Amino acid sequence: MTFIPTLCSVCRARDESIMHLFRDCYWARQVWAGMNLDVVHENLTENVFCWLNNVFTLLHDGSLILFILTSYWIWSNRNKVVFELLCENPSASVIGIRKWHDHLVGLDQIAIQRNRLVQSYPVKWQPPDPGFAKINFAASFIYGASLNCFGVVARNRAGFVLAAEWGKLGPDEDAYHAEACAANKALELACSLGLQNVQIEGDCLRLITELQNTCSSATSCGVLVDAVKEKSTLFDACSFHFAKRSANAVADCLSRLDYSISSKCFSDVSLPVVVLDLVHLDAIFLVKFTV
Ligand SMILES: [Zn+2]
Repeated sequence: MTFIPTLCSVCRARDESIMHLFRDCYWARQVWAGMNLDVVHENLTENVFCWLNNVFTLLHDGSLILFILTSYWIWSNRNKVVFELLCENPSASVIGIRKWHDHLVGLDQIAIQRNRLVQSYPVKWQPPDPGFAKINFAASFIYGASLNCFGVVARNRAGFVLAAEWGKLGPDEDAYHAEACAANKALELACSLGLQNVQIEGDCLRLITELQNTCSSATSCGVLVDAVKEKSTLFDACSFHFAKRSANAVADCLSRLDYSISSKCFSDVSLPVVVLDLVHLDAIFLVKFTV
C-alpha cells in the first residue's frame, strides 16, 4: 500500500503528519506560544512517542493539563477546517483554552470543597442492606427523674420510619443494663412489625460486641443479653451493628424525651417535631451524600 501524503488542512503549506499538525504547523506554533508552553518545541524529534515522553517528563500538574487541553483544541480546530471550512484565530483559541482550563479548575475546586464538607460532617445514619429494615436503639438516664429511658426506631432503606417507640425502663439500672433492655425493645418492635430481615444498631460498643459474640455472655447482665441473642434467632436474618452516637441520633433523641409521654407509633406522623427533624436530616443526608 502506498502512503499518499495530503497537505495540512490548516496551513496548506506542508504535508499533514501528527508532528506537523500538533507541533510544527504555523497555526499550532502560535497557539503553543500563547499558552507559554515552550517545552513543546524543545525536542524536535519526528517520533511522536519520544516527543510525548519528553513533554510528559518536563510538564507537571497544571501545565500538563494545559498541554492536553491545547492538543485537543488543535485537533478540534483541524476538524472544523475539514468539515466546516472554518479556522479559528490562534489568539481566540488561546483565550478559549484558558477559559476552559479555568472552568475545569473551578469544578475541581468545587469537588474538593464538597469532599471537605462531607468529611467534616459527623458520621450519619446509613441505610440497611437491600431487603432489610434497620432498628436503632438507645438508652438514656434522665437525671431529673432518676430514670432510665429507651428509644427505638425502625426504618427502611429509604430512611422512612416504619415504627418508633420510646418510654421508661426500670430505675436504678446501670447504663449497660439499660442499653441491653433497649436492644430487647428493638427486637420486640421488629416482631410487632412482622419483620424477618433486620439489622439492629446501637451506640454501646461493649453491648454490640457482646451481642455479636456467639458464646454465652459473662457480663453483669448476661441473662438479659443471652435472652436478646436468643430472641434474634427467631428472625430469618438478624444481626447487631455498632454505630457512632451521631449515626444513632434519632434513637438517642427518642430516649431523651419526657418519660411521661411514652408512646409507640407506626409512621413519622406522630413523632415529636424534635425527633422528626433528625429523621428528615438523616434522609436528606442519604439523598445528598450517599447517592
Ligand atoms: Zn499546517
